This record gives sequence, C-alpha cells and structure tokens, in this order.
Amino acid sequence: MNIKALNGFKDILPGEVELWQRVETAARDLFARFNFSEIRLPILEHTDLFARAIGEGTDIVEKEMYSFVEKQVTMRPEATASLLRAAIEHGLLVQKPVQRLFTIGPMFRHERPQKGRLRQFHQMDVEVLGSASPLVDAELMAMGASLLASLGLSVSLELNSLGCPACRPAFRARLLAFLTDRHEALCDDCKRRSGTNPLRVLDCKNPGCRAQVTDAPSLQDALCDECAVHFQAVQDGLNQLAVPYSLNKFMVRGLDYYTRTTFEFITGDLGAQAAVGAGGRYDGLIEQLGGPKAPGIGFALGIERLVLLLQQQAAEAPPSGIELFVAGIGEQPSRHAFGLTHALRTDGVRVATDHEGRSLKSQMKLAGKLGAAFVLILGDSELASGKALLRNMATQEQQEISLPDAAATIRAIIRATASSRL
Ligand code: ATP
Ligand code: MG
Repeated sequence: MNIKALNGFKDILPGEVELWQRVETAARDLFARFNFSEIRLPILEHTDLFARAIGEGTDIVEKEMYSFVEKQVTMRPEATASLLRAAIEHGLLVQKPVQRLFTIGPMFRHERPQKGRLRQFHQMDVEVLGSASPLVDAELMAMGASLLASLGLSVSLELNSLGCPACRPAFRARLLAFLTDRHEALCDDCKRRSGTNPLRVLDCKNPGCRAQVTDAPSLQDALCDECAVHFQAVQDGLNQLAVPYSLNKFMVRGLDYYTRTTFEFITGDLGAQAAVGAGGRYDGLIEQLGGPKAPGIGFALGIERLVLLLQQQAAEAPPSGIELFVAGIGEQPSRHAFGLTHALRTDGVRVATDHEGRSLKSQMKLAGKLGAAFVLILGDSELASGKALLRNMATQEQQEISLPDAAATIRAIIRATASSRL
C-alpha cells in the first residue's frame, strides 16, 4: 500500500527548507535586537484552555480544532493561549513585570486546505505581557514591518481598534440594529452569527455581506475616551517610526480575546489568503485565564505564507552549494579523500565526496549538481607525487596543493576566495 501524507499536512523538502531557514534566522536575529526571549511550548494542551481563551463561539473552537475528545486535550491551533498558560503557571510576571517572548512552531487547524492554508501550519509568534503602553503596540508593528522589509517583501499594515468592555457593548447594540434591517441580504453564516457575534459580520468575505456593511457604524468612532486616546497614541507611535499603515474599520479578528489595537499584515499576492500575519491586544485575557491582572499584546506571522511570498516576490537567493568536492579515483585515493573530507568538515568547510566508487566523469557531474565551488581530484599519481590540483569551478583556474598539509591550505584558499567575493 502506498501511504501518503494526510491532506493539509506537508513535507518541507530541501530546496524549499532554505527559505524557511532564511525566514527563521532573520526573525530570531531581529527579535533578539528587540529584546525578546524564546519560549518553547508543548503542542498538546487541555481543550479548555483554547475554549476559554479563543472563545466558544469562534470558528477555531467550533470547527477547526484537532481534539482528542475522550482525553479532552487539543493540538494547539495558535500559540497565545499556550504562552499565557505557561507564563501564568511559572509566575513569569512575578519575576519580571514585563515579559517579551517569542515562539516558533507548528499549529493545527482542521480547515479546507488551499494554497497558503494548511492543517498543520507554522507560526512565529511574539507576545509582550504586562505593558499597556501604546508605544509597545507601535513597536511591535514596527518590528513586524522591519522583518518583512528585511526579507525583501512588500506587505501592507492595516489597523483597527476593537474597543474594550466599556465601549464595545454599546457599539455592538448599534451594529445589531443596523444589521437587523439588512438581515435578509446577509449570507447564512452571517444570519446566524449576527445574533451571537455581530462584529464578525463586518469581516465577512462574502461580496453580498460586504456590500451591506459598507456604511455600517465604525467602532473607531464609538471608542470610549481611554480607548480613543490609546488608539491615537498607537498611530502617533507608528507615524514617529515612519511605519506606513492604513485604518480598516472592518477588521475584526476571529478570536474573542482581542481588545483595542488589532492589526494585520496584508498582501495582494496570495489570493484569498491575504493575511501573512495578524495580532492585537488582549488586555483581559491573562486574568481570565487565572493569572494576574496584566495587559498583553502579540502577533503571529504564518511561515508558509511568508515562504510563498518569498518565492513570488523576492529576488532569487544565491544557491547555497558546497564549498568543496573531493574526488577520489581508485581504492587508495578514495580512502585518502574520505579522511581529508572529514578533516576539512571538522575544520568548518562544507565538503562532499563520493562513497560509491564512481568514475571521475560522474564524480565531476555530481560536484556540479552539488554546486561545488572547488574540486580536488585525487588519483594514484597524485598520492604518489604528494601533490594534487585544486580547481576553482567558477574561474576554471587550478592550483597545486601539497597533500601533507592539504587541509590547512585548502581551507585558507576557500576562505580567501569567499571573502574576496563579499
Ligand atoms: P485567515 O484569515 O487567513 O484564516 P486567521 O485570522 O485565522 O487567518 P490567525 O489566527 O490570526 O489567522 O493567525 C495568524 C497568521 O497565521 C495568519 O495571518 C496566517 O499567516 C497564518 N495562518 C493562519 N491559519 C493558517 C492556515 N490554516 N494555514 C497557513 N497559515 C495560516
Ligand atoms: Mg482562519
């Protein structure tokens, strides 16, 4: 029987994985400069954690979670809930009142797989716990924007405020009245959710619903004084840091925990999967999960979508071939090649060799396929004379190497060539 991967679960093969490494390396480097520490969290959590944090009526909790029903555990659909659970469980906010944490790893949602939408997908998730400052909101968005720019990606930032428990209920009632008049024109999903969560209708992708809500009341005009001041300060911060953004009064996130600032990084290049990253404030959530009364804000970037964008938008990265191929022709030379390869590898050089007794011709072909910058050919006559030729594959220049100190000489030549190319 021919067993394949599950639908929506994907292998990341060499050739693509280099883009993942580029994204993750750039992120780790940037997050460190912004003073974030890494936290690694389990994949499996109590189902209750997500039901309470994300909200019972959300698509994620209602339809998308991978849960082991009898054990009442769930494979995490996102990282924020787990990260807060860990912060509370280990008293992190007692040790340090503001925590700046990031985590990178797989998430699981049972959705219909499409380009940029998988059932196992990967996020880079960043959270600041314990600060209510609007400067943190601006700083986080600026960090996200810097990361995308450093990868050469062009993505826009959209911003909204969802208000707080003081101002949202009155807005919700106004919106409900607005939607009641238009109920018949809404899609079935929106007919259902306008009763339970009318804000979600604002975010519906259905063209019919979109047409109905164009003149819906805006939460941005209905904020209480504190939320309005906060929202303005966030925008002032973004302006000061020269981060471009646009206001989107329709943006509502599909998780119940958000308050005030919400934002998305959007692209026009991935069809319906327009959001490469999203996040916002969740000022009541830590307390709601049994922790101290502490505000929080965070966002997550989807790595699959970043990689798709890199394949589409960014300039080709130079192929990362090996530095040296050691070709041994015949039994004794092959044994010598085996030892020299190991010596060079432990010395920091990226080296490949042949273990199959291939002909010189097919070893040269292999070296080409591996993108070798240099090739060293060892035959019986080279071993006898103690000298071999090192060929620079780009320039075709050759130089004679003395075999007794080949490792040190080759290493020096490769390093000198690499630095002269910089
Ligand atoms: P979407 O509107 O595309 O469903 P979302 O609002 O559900 O996204 P979040 O829960 O905010 O997404 O997750 C943040 C990011 O994680 C998204 O912007 C996206 O890049 C990525 N993401 C979310 N779900 C998936 C998925 N099923 N497959 C791949 N990436 C995903
Ligand atoms: Mg979704």
